[in-house]
Amino acid sequence: MLDIIQIPVLTDNYIYLLHDSDSGETAVVDPAVAEPVLAVLKQKGWQLTYILNTHHHSDHVGGNVELKRQTGCQIIASEFDKHRIPSVDRGIKEHDVINLGTHSAQVIATAGHTSGHIVYYFAEDNALFCGDTLFVMGCGRLFEGSAAELWQSLQKLKALPPKTRVYCAHEYTQANGRFALTVEPDNIALQEKMIQVNELRANGLPTVPSTIGEELATNPFLRDLSSTLQAKFKGIAPVELFAKLRRLKDSF
Ligand code: ZN
Ligand code: FE
Repeated sequence: MLDIIQIPVLTDNYIYLLHDSDSGETAVVDPAVAEPVLAVLKQKGWQLTYILNTHHHSDHVGGNVELKRQTGCQIIASEFDKHRIPSVDRGIKEHDVINLGTHSAQVIATAGHTSGHIVYYFAEDNALFCGDTLFVMGCGRLFEGSAAELWQSLQKLKALPPKTRVYCAHEYTQANGRFALTVEPDNIALQEKMIQVNELRANGLPTVPSTIGEELATNPFLRDLSSTLQAKFKGIAPVELFAKLRRLKDSF
């Protein structure tokens, strides 16, 4: 059994603590800060085995050095980003596999938000830790990659089983949903999702994780082939439509 604990930090970041109860191994995904992670480890009586980083931005790696100093954990990150992520022990690339006890994660390269961005997919646990590549009803901004690169990366995530839980690194859902509704106002799944999301947020609850299935139904950045969007943008090529939506969202 893989325990997953979601720790909200900073303005809208999520850190995830993963624990395999059989082996006792524990990993943390994208520790923006160290203190809240140390507090949960202490409370649970868990020892940190690994830090798994998705990309080099400070709101994903800010706790690396302190956590390693206090726990002696090993830091795993994209080989491509070894030079710009603090204290990396092991560089990894697409198709590499990370083991946490008997659980395993496949590494998928998802350039676009940054050029070295990777995500961790625990197939047997139906869990995807996708950093700033895919958000609930949205996707990451293009800081280093092209629209074509991020589009290509999202195609890989779209292909995962619909029941896969999407553990993204930010609570951006409400703003993303408001934008999505401007693009697809008649999408019933999207309208219903927004009602749920508004209720969760009104109660101070997270809207993350969603699932790949929900994203396929509501996320405009995964819906470049939807008939509504194709009609609206007159048979535009999917990657061009994606680029256009990304530009629209940037100025939304
Ligand atoms: Zn980022
Ligand atoms: Fe971020």
